[in-house]
Amino acid sequence: MITLESVSKRYSGKFGHIDALIDVSVRVERSDIFGIVGFSGAGKSTLIRMVNRLEEPDSGTIMVDGDDVTAMTKKQLLTSRRNVGMVFQQFNLLETKTVFRNVAMPLMLQGKSRAEIARRVDEVLDIVELSDKRDARVSQLSGGQKQRVGIARALATEPDILLCDEATSALDPKTTEAILQLLKRINKTMGVTILLITHQMQVVQRICNKVAVMEGGRVVEQGSVIEVFGNP
Ligand code: ADP
Ligand code: ADP
Repeated sequence: MITLESVSKRYSGKFGHIDALIDVSVRVERSDIFGIVGFSGAGKSTLIRMVNRLEEPDSGTIMVDGDDVTAMTKKQLLTSRRNVGMVFQQFNLLETKTVFRNVAMPLMLQGKSRAEIARRVDEVLDIVELSDKRDARVSQLSGGQKQRVGIARALATEPDILLCDEATSALDPKTTEAILQLLKRINKTMGVTILLITHQMQVVQRICNKVAVMEGGRVVEQGSVIEVFGNP
């Protein structure tokens, strides 16, 4: 589903360089909830941004859904990105707009008809259990509700893959648990493959079936959560 093969990335600056990724190989299978865990600066964001081609590797290959994303034209890339939903730590929502408008945004960008947009938005708001907030402004919502909107927006285009960038790091423990259970349900009932990055070990232990541990740009351990961490 998602494979990184010997991927390396170096950032150069005035004061030298940083190896953000060093010979990283990761294999995410269909319907996995795959967690990448590590401290700040380990290279997690760089890795996840490469899956979406927001960042290019210096070397190595990245396959998403059977396509080599490092060898795609701009047009192919746009099409393939539709198959990948992104969920962010700070939600990245339009705060002054309504829930409906936020979730509709990716569908509007795709040029879908008004009727189709309305149908799909209602469908995903139902999935995240936020139908009653359809016409509320995002600024009026709690953190957990905002993240549900973020997840609904990510699901709007019916992606096969969800990339979650510290999706629960801005939330309290109880809200975190609710969002994790929602992600698990989306994975189970819709078969969406989830790749998440987090600095919170408990997130991985709670919902992931597989994990890669990153340190200083390298994957230092990888396998099933039970293999890597033992039984809970
Ligand atoms: P993490 O997500 O695990 O915190 P990052 O992938 O954000 O790690 O960063 C890995 C390393 O690369 C860090 O040392 C970071 O400072 C550096 N880095 C990330 N992005 C850039 C950039 N655009 N320019 C220079 N250095 C960067
Ligand atoms: P996160 O780790 O949550 O993604 P950061 O604050 O580390 O957020 O990074 C935010 C942005 O700054 C990213 O686009 C990243 O590439 C960039 N960045 C991170 N570290 C550096 C750095 N040392 N030099 C330049 N840009 C960086």
